[in-house]
Amino acid sequence: MWCSICKCLADSVLCEQCREALHKVGYAYLYNDRCKVCNQSVLDSVYGCPNCLDNLLVYGPYESLLASLINRYKQGGELQLLPLLSELYVPMIKTIAKPLLLPIPSSLQGRKARGFDQMMKIASYLQKKYEIPYLNVFTHTRTRQYKQLNRLERSSYISLKLSKTGSSKLEKVLAEGFQPVIIDDIRTTGFTSTQASILIENTYSIKTKIIVLADA
Ligand SMILES: [Zn+2]
Ligand SMILES: [Zn+2]
Repeated sequence: MWCSICKCLADSVLCEQCREALHKVGYAYLYNDRCKVCNQSVLDSVYGCPNCLDNLLVYGPYESLLASLINRYKQGGELQLLPLLSELYVPMIKTIAKPLLLPIPSSLQGRKARGFDQMMKIASYLQKKYEIPYLNVFTHTRTRQYKQLNRLERSSYISLKLSKTGSSKLEKVLAEGFQPVIIDDIRTTGFTSTQASILIENTYSIKTKIIVLADA
């Protein structure tokens, strides 16, 4: 097997050195302080904990190795990075009892350019490998605003609504006590994932969790 990052011969998707390098760009390594309530890594427990305050879990900052891996997968379409990136979500998901993943769909232009939906692929990988269930509940809606955007703005613009089939399935699953967990890759302004969590919370009166790989 070849290491997904440096392409040297390795025992798993990563060689030992790259595994360590990836660990070192995560908050679990970067932050020494721990939240006294949930035990997540925090910059300083005095400033509060994103998990306790906003139900938000993030692997690391959108920089260096983490940013380049996400871009190689997302923009470069390097599907061999799928197992590696999916695995980064697992420890965060494991802090939640009975998680139900709700992936954020990629922008319409993004999916067209790349030929796949990056978060859907990750959710489906996690379901197959770890039996963590997921549902596609979000779909795009084109608001009036959308029409006024230029091409570049449209490539990242996402406005979501609940799909009909998705929302009736979701209602059933939530009644079984599952915890909805919105998953996305990058949280830039927090806009898309926040929008999705408000949508779920307003429709079902249930608190959602948000898990992302990187915040920018
Ligand atoms: Zn390597
Ligand atoms: Zn906490």
